[in-house]
Amino acid sequence: MSSFSLQSLLRPHILTLTPYSSARDEYTGKEGVFLDANENALGSTTDSGQYNRYPDPYQSAIKERLAPIKGVRPEQIFLGNGSDEPIDLLIRATCRPGRSDASTDNIIIMPPTYGMYEVSATINDVELVKIPLTPDFQPDTDAVVAAVTDTTKIIWICSPNNPTGNLIDPESIRTILKAADHSLVVVDEAYIDFAETTSWTGELDNYPNLVVLQTFSKAWGLAALRLGMCFASEELIRVLNKIKPPYNISAPTQALALEALGHEREKNEMVAQILADRQVLAEKLLSLPIVQHIYPSDVNFLLVRFMDAKAVFEYLINRQVIVRDRSKVKLCEGCLRITVGTSDENERLLTELRQYDGPTLPDTSAHTGTVTHPEPVSNA
Ligand SMILES: *Cc1c(COP(=O)(O)O)cnc(C)c1O
Repeated sequence: MSSFSLQSLLRPHILTLTPYSSARDEYTGKEGVFLDANENALGSTTDSGQYNRYPDPYQSAIKERLAPIKGVRPEQIFLGNGSDEPIDLLIRATCRPGRSDASTDNIIIMPPTYGMYEVSATINDVELVKIPLTPDFQPDTDAVVAAVTDTTKIIWICSPNNPTGNLIDPESIRTILKAADHSLVVVDEAYIDFAETTSWTGELDNYPNLVVLQTFSKAWGLAALRLGMCFASEELIRVLNKIKPPYNISAPTQALALEALGHEREKNEMVAQILADRQVLAEKLLSLPIVQHIYPSDVNFLLVRFMDAKAVFEYLINRQVIVRDRSKVKLCEGCLRITVGTSDENERLLTELRQYDGPTLPDTSAHTGTVTHPEPVSNA
């Protein structure tokens, strides 16, 4: 049995905090004359829609709808203003800040990975321990386990990982979940819909220290709404609810998310289209002499190693094709991260790349031919 205790993980003042009690906390009925929240009862200053009433602080309608889709209970769901919000709240709930203090808590990340874990830790003045991924983009599991101390509050695992695009070996995650049983282990599954794997949400009842993040920003096509999902034990979700801003998800976002959940089939069709287009894009990129390597992808982007990556990046920008320069990132040297676009956008990228002839002539001998198959790697 795990000896995990959320109470000893939380900062003491969070444990004893009396949260803000909103008007909508005190009366949850839908009918009545609402004179409790100082809203404008006359209406909204908008042309369409009425936004004069505060939204449901706990987004119950979305959670009721989302729970069966994700195979969890509504009480295991927290919704945030993007994934950024739960990333920040998890750190604030558990980590005592202040680098000079001997009691400073730390979080572990495995670079190259998503930048927000480090930014959020730094904003919160929390110590960051970096255990780089191995050259095949998997956790150095022994080193991670060895780095865990009494003051390690969170270990971040991004699977599939950004920017490397690969799934993390489930055995490594399991080992870390078991070894770090006094820490939270957060598995960020922002790209899970693109991968041939099952979500770690199915393991929530087996690991009280497990937290899973997902988002509406990628496969669901709702990046502008800013809606992130966090799945965890009911005990931890209650803590996040206690410390979040009371009305963190706006009424339009809640309404549109509910609408989106009725279109799961369309989401799946878009994912299938993106995966098919990714395959076509990868094959065409490979035929270009400036492309040295394409890494296997379990996501909606490709990590591509170019000759003169920086120059190719600048050239593309000048042609108004914008990709992400990861060429200075350790283990991603010489790489650009390219999101799969529409067929037209992908063709435009390829057309521009075919016309590239600069700053140094392509040295075809450097074409390693070691290109891995761009289909998803098996997670078996
Ligand atoms: C895109 C992305 C997210 C999503 O962030 P939102 O704030 O929900 O838009 C989360 N994690 C990773 C690794 C991502 O790449």
